[in-house]
Amino acid sequence: MKKEINTKNKDFLTTLFKEYYFKNLGLLNPPIQMPNREFGFMTFDGKVIRHLSFSKLGSLKAYIIQNVPSDIFCSNAYYQFPTFPINEKGWKGADMIFDIDLNDLLLSCQKEHTFYICSNCNVVSRDYINQCYKCHNTTILKNTIPCFRCITSLKKETKNLIEFLKKDFGIQEKNLEVSFSGNTGFHVVVCQDNYMLLDSKSRSDVAGYLMGRNLTPESFGVRNDKGGYRIKIPLSGFSYGWRKRIVQRMKIPVSSDHLNKFIKKIGGYPSFKNEIDKIASEIGVKIDPQVTTDIHRIFRMVGSLNGKSGLSKTICYDLDKFDPMTDSCFFENDKSVDISINIPLKFHIKGKKYVLDKSISSVPVSVAVFLISKRLANVANYSS
Ligand SMILES: [Zn+2]
Ligand SMILES: [Zn+2]
Repeated sequence: MKKEINTKNKDFLTTLFKEYYFKNLGLLNPPIQMPNREFGFMTFDGKVIRHLSFSKLGSLKAYIIQNVPSDIFCSNAYYQFPTFPINEKGWKGADMIFDIDLNDLLLSCQKEHTFYICSNCNVVSRDYINQCYKCHNTTILKNTIPCFRCITSLKKETKNLIEFLKKDFGIQEKNLEVSFSGNTGFHVVVCQDNYMLLDSKSRSDVAGYLMGRNLTPESFGVRNDKGGYRIKIPLSGFSYGWRKRIVQRMKIPVSSDHLNKFIKKIGGYPSFKNEIDKIASEIGVKIDPQVTTDIHRIFRMVGSLNGKSGLSKTICYDLDKFDPMTDSCFFENDKSVDISINIPLKFHIKGKKYVLDKSISSVPVSVAVFLISKRLANVANYSS
């Protein structure tokens, strides 16, 4: 998406992002097999630069300091020739990746803190718009400031994913990397040998399983036969995976007899199918399946800043205690900037609550970077 940005805002963010990388280069987490990865960058003018490679962390750092990109990405795949066009790169495998984003959680609080912003003149609306009423531009950005409830729900969903990966796929905790994306989601990377060579179709099957898609009464050995229900699955088949989750949630004691009785009681095959669908959509993991099936994706790099928020993509060693608005915000609180705010806002940053009116305000640098990256404010006065 094209994301024009005014010069003053661009200069401000470039200066601050550069300062961040100077001070925090140690936070950039080099991926394993770094020379075999493709790197990509986004500029503050919205240009995407791909198909680069860096054999050493030092040369990547030098590139970043010199060019100050708004976003830094690294392929989940390992290639023989990472700088070649996609079909000639020589794919050697890829980490399996998962993205849990607010967009997929459909929380009711979303409308309280979601904004529609004209990419040209930064006019902001709380209601959905498909065209700017001021300059008639039709590129409208959708930005959200996650509230406490959003963060709690994202963490809960991330834990749900981790539980599935460990219990149903036998993935070891030490091979899981959990991080905050820097904006409105969490990323989970599986770096385990037996998953690296899976093709896109197999990854799609993994995503479908996690989301509880295509679960049918037949998955439980139940058929829509005239002669009644036929249970073909041994009872031990109900002691793990989706079958265990569903029968537990339906509170059915595990025996074929009980299952038959239960299905008859609730109204037969169609009602049983409805119940399965309901439970699957409740406890299925809300991931973005497109991310998981993509074996050539360039994925945000750990330790880099997210250009949509100015927050850093940060590894979460303790998900319960992790507070994105504090632990991923690396900008100062003791230096101020004058910004003009485009819409009244309420939010927390670094443990402090802000209630700002639509006016010019003097705010800490940490707040200015966040709101300008979100396109909810403009620099009014700043000298570096
Ligand atoms: Zn406009
Ligand atoms: Zn919320």
